[in-house]
Amino acid sequence: MGIPDLFGEKRYRPLSRYLREIFGCRVQKIPLDAGFTCPNRDGRVGLGGCIYCGPRGSGTGAYENGVPLGEQIRAGIESGKRRFGKCKFIAYFQAFTNTYAPAERLKSLYDEALRHQEVVGLSIGTRPDCAPDEVLELLEEYARRCHFWVEYGLQSAHDYTLELINRGHDIAQFVDAVERTKGRGINICAHVILGLPGETKEEMMATADLVASLELEGIKIHSLYVLKGTKLAEIYQRGEFRLLELEEYVSLVCDFLERLPPDMVIQRLTGEAPRDLLVAPRWSREKMAVLGKIDTELEQRGSYQGIEWRPSPIQERTKCLDQKTI
Ligand code: SF4
Repeated sequence: MGIPDLFGEKRYRPLSRYLREIFGCRVQKIPLDAGFTCPNRDGRVGLGGCIYCGPRGSGTGAYENGVPLGEQIRAGIESGKRRFGKCKFIAYFQAFTNTYAPAERLKSLYDEALRHQEVVGLSIGTRPDCAPDEVLELLEEYARRCHFWVEYGLQSAHDYTLELINRGHDIAQFVDAVERTKGRGINICAHVILGLPGETKEEMMATADLVASLELEGIKIHSLYVLKGTKLAEIYQRGEFRLLELEEYVSLVCDFLERLPPDMVIQRLTGEAPRDLLVAPRWSREKMAVLGKIDTELEQRGSYQGIEWRPSPIQERTKCLDQKTI
């Protein structure tokens, strides 16, 4: 098998190209902070949150700065049009846990995003333990109306790591959420982090294998970085673990990509640390440089997404049945 056509000029399947195939133009994600909180911070599941989680819960901090949702969307559309000309948008509910509210509130926030005619889709970032069936039924309705993703935080396929980083859920809950989400027309994206304290290369590759086996539509791969004021910063400053060097991260991302199915959409290959909060590593501020190095490494290896991936016997059987049906 050679490099699949669906990768374009890359050696993996980038979200930008996937969306262009669907909509025929550039589609830009608008990161939103709708004022949610998180059950792993407010005491419902845990207190203090994941040990790496910064004060903005991976978001822009717009809500706390008093910028209403509608204004965030309008500003995102204007800035996208200024930079890229004609394009469409996906409203990305990013900060904290974006299904952690009564259905009525969720509906009113998601509807507000879809009121803008340039917004053609929604992407909802959440935790696997915040997707009860009632919420999935609501998400399913939106998946019928627009291009729709749910993004579940997984981070690692090892319960001992999830415990160490205080995720407040386990692998079984992640798999259960995925299974209950499937068959509803909802695209599923998993978030994983490479370089978590104590994890070896083999353990990170086991995470790749779990994600590959679940046949998800997409993935975001992040590097671990340390933010000011977090539990992780305390542990880091005590010298209890070391962060990945840039070259190590690049190599691990390429190994990871090689094990994923070739049709899985790659939504992110590195996290972009907020500059004002970053403790380390400095290289995590340079997203474009990291992406360039990943491209170079894949090229030098003569490698690409999926080169090491083999369908499981069940996936192989389903493929054969599909072909027979055709
Ligand atoms: S689940 Fe997300 S928002 Fe909640 S504590 Fe963890 S990283 Fe922060």
